[in-house]
Amino acid sequence: METITHNKYTVKKIRELTKSTYVVRMERNGMAFIPGQNLNLGLAGDTEKRDYSIYSRKKDDYLEILVKEVEDGLVSKQLKRINPGDALEVDGPFGFFTLKEEHLYSKKFLFISSGTGIAPFHSITGSFPEIDFTLLHGVRYLDETYEKHDYPDDRYISCISQEAGGDFHGRVTDYIKQHPVDKDTLCYLCGNVNMIYDVFDILKEQGVPSENLHAEVYF
Ligand SMILES: Cc1cc2nc3c(=O)[nH]c(=O)nc-3n(C[C@H](O)[C@H](O)[C@H](O)COP(=O)(O)OP(=O)(O)OC[C@H]3O[C@@H](n4cnc5c(N)ncnc54)[C@H](O)[C@@H]3O)c2cc1C
Repeated sequence: METITHNKYTVKKIRELTKSTYVVRMERNGMAFIPGQNLNLGLAGDTEKRDYSIYSRKKDDYLEILVKEVEDGLVSKQLKRINPGDALEVDGPFGFFTLKEEHLYSKKFLFISSGTGIAPFHSITGSFPEIDFTLLHGVRYLDETYEKHDYPDDRYISCISQEAGGDFHGRVTDYIKQHPVDKDTLCYLCGNVNMIYDVFDILKEQGVPSENLHAEVYF
């Protein structure tokens, strides 16, 4: 039987953001990637692997992923228990959820995320800080506005549905209904599939053509 060999990456650091959400930093091993792409990874020696967007920036000499521990999940729970020095098996980068180079400095971007769906936008906006973007981040609670200080204040909008105190009280769908999107804006959506479908419908109603809509579904 053919054995598949995966590339081993050593874990450098774990950064806990909330009780269930954490950033895993690992060595980069010279991996070239386009911001917005993802990795497929799991514990060394384990056959279970999952996809995770790259959270770190192009210029960083490490790779990071942002993970939420899912209740009854397998890999997200295993990753929560790893320690610096442990090995992960990592394949990639994969995916096409990336910005076209010719659009970078000529277009306006709207990034819409739910939960850890903010991860590719952390990589994109950190790698291309000069682009003209607005980032909507839909979460339930204030402490889920993961590392929001990494984004310019006037470009990051938290939409908090279950408690007061964010930039906007409600879901990203409510925000978009109240703040219609210009049809020339390039819209990138990432996270839960229900959010993505709901936002697609609203944006289409507002006249945004489907060629300006891009999505990465997590679950
Ligand atoms: C392209 C791509 C990129 C992804 N990037 C990220 C990322 O950057 N960060 C990240 O945390 N996850 C990301 N995911 C989801 C990730 O691949 C796993 O599905 C997730 O970590 C759960 O894996 P698990 O083995 O713990 O749970 P499993 O045992 O595989 O699944 C348990 C259940 O949890 C559901 N589920 C998956 N994710 C979530 C979630 N966030 N909240 C609630 N339920 C969920 C699944 O649909 C399933 O029903 C990405 C998925 C894809 C396809």
